[in-house]
Amino acid sequence: MVTVAEKARSAEREDLAGEALEFPDAEWVSEPPPPSFGRSPSPCRGGSNGSDQTDGRRVAAIAAVVESVADPEIPVLSIVDLGIVRAVEADRVVLTPTYTGCPATHVIERDVRDALDAAGYRDVRIDTVLSPAWTTDWITPEGRARLHAYGIAPPDPEGRRVAVCPQCGSRQTEEISRFGSTPCKALWRCRDCAEPFDLFKCH
Ligand SMILES: [Zn+2]
Repeated sequence: MVTVAEKARSAEREDLAGEALEFPDAEWVSEPPPPSFGRSPSPCRGGSNGSDQTDGRRVAAIAAVVESVADPEIPVLSIVDLGIVRAVEADRVVLTPTYTGCPATHVIERDVRDALDAAGYRDVRIDTVLSPAWTTDWITPEGRARLHAYGIAPPDPEGRRVAVCPQCGSRQTEEISRFGSTPCKALWRCRDCAEPFDLFKCH
């Protein structure tokens, strides 16, 4: 199934070399505000206004730096995959932490700061927006695929407490413990292949 969000992702990738980045109208399960990459996303692509072009390149470069920051708990996921990057603009990056109490939140903010500084963007500030709260629905389709490939079952998009075994694909799975290796995960087991696995919990 190719969702609008997936199309948006590939459109965004094709657009990397172009102007300001933006997520087109993604189909969100819980309808968060669409993240915006770029100060003033214009529906008119391909314009070659000089300052817009420069601004767009800067935003694209900043977005690339942000995308290089991995989730500290699940290194195969970038923070963009995780869905916590709400906006990338010429002078600021907006983050929404996963949830309060998750120790990774502070690590992520520090890692973004370090990455921006290292790339020469000391003047780009990081704003944190707490509302609306992040939910696992914001994990991108690409992020969900990466979680699965990494051996962590992504959360059910409809919020049901079900999990597909990331080892063998079986749906015959059961929860062993509400708490897995980190507070964000629950421990599950597959009845078919008997492998235990982590489920990324819904929020
Ligand atoms: Zn299995």
